Amino acid sequence: MLTNKPKVVVIGSINMDMVTRSSRFPQKGETISGESFDQLPGGKGANQAVAAARLGAEVSMIGAVGDDHSGQALLKHLQDEQIDTSFVQILQGQTTGMAQITVSEEDNQIIIVPGANFALTKEHIDAAKDIIQSADIVVLQLEIPLEIVEHAAQIAAESAVKVILNPAPAPAERLNESLLQAVHYITPNETELAHMTEQSNVELGIEDLLKEKVDAVVVTLGSEGVRFKQKGDIVTGFVQGRDVEVIDTTGAGDTFNGALSYCLASGIELAEAIEFANDAAGLSVTKFGAQTGMPTLTEVRKF
Ligand code: ATP
Repeated sequence: MLTNKPKVVVIGSINMDMVTRSSRFPQKGETISGESFDQLPGGKGANQAVAAARLGAEVSMIGAVGDDHSGQALLKHLQDEQIDTSFVQILQGQTTGMAQITVSEEDNQIIIVPGANFALTKEHIDAAKDIIQSADIVVLQLEIPLEIVEHAAQIAAESAVKVILNPAPAPAERLNESLLQAVHYITPNETELAHMTEQSNVELGIEDLLKEKVDAVVVTLGSEGVRFKQKGDIVTGFVQGRDVEVIDTTGAGDTFNGALSYCLASGIELAEAIEFANDAAGLSVTKFGAQTGMPTLTEVRKF
């Protein structure tokens, strides 16, 4: 089928979020009754894929689920969002990635079991080489093994396909030079930037990352907005966060990255793309749930 839609390829995690709510956490060894339980599609990769698809991008997801009930449900969910899942592997004997989230009145606790996400191999990525190399943009995060992220970025770089790297969760160590050479846009939040650069000041952190081969650094600052800089001062600036009634900020970063990928794949300039992504992410926090709040193109334009 021929389409003019921007082509976005997302390579990353697919999780089922198991969310339990209770008034408090159990004490050591204690069993208590909770108030509710929900199974919600999640994982940074899948979230960013859904965000881009809702806006109208032609999205292909590359990742893995287990041969279990969650895996089947998540695959169907991605397909219902019009995402191509031809390169989502169903791995025998693996469990689908899972985040067990307990929300109490004061706090929350999360345990992530990566399962199939960490069983992705270079061969799985190689199988999707054509689709990666014909993308308008490739989007990566760090919820799959780092060597797979590096391999995928190299395949994109071979064909000069632009790569967005959302370095989340924060990497334990400095990312290696060859990965950063293959990345055009890096999109840490403040904590991730500080982890990666050992700079607590955002401006210094940005300068530090620009010494590497990346083309532009885009730092998300929660409600404050976004600070960014492109190499050689071509584009530099700050976009103020939208003043909205906040219901749930889960997935704000994923909405931002999905929207940014949609715009950049459409050929929109970086500064304008960041403004749009800031609007989309601002809109997403006005609704409950990571993916539930992800807006359509019409909703962002109206906003
Ligand atoms: P998360 O891990 O919760 O998905 P993150 O830490 O990766 O988020 P943030 O920097 O918190 O990312 O948020 C990403 C973007 O979402 C911000 O740059 C901003 O555009 C928007 N945003 C987040 N929180 C708010 C808020 N309270 N009000 C308005 N916009 C927000």
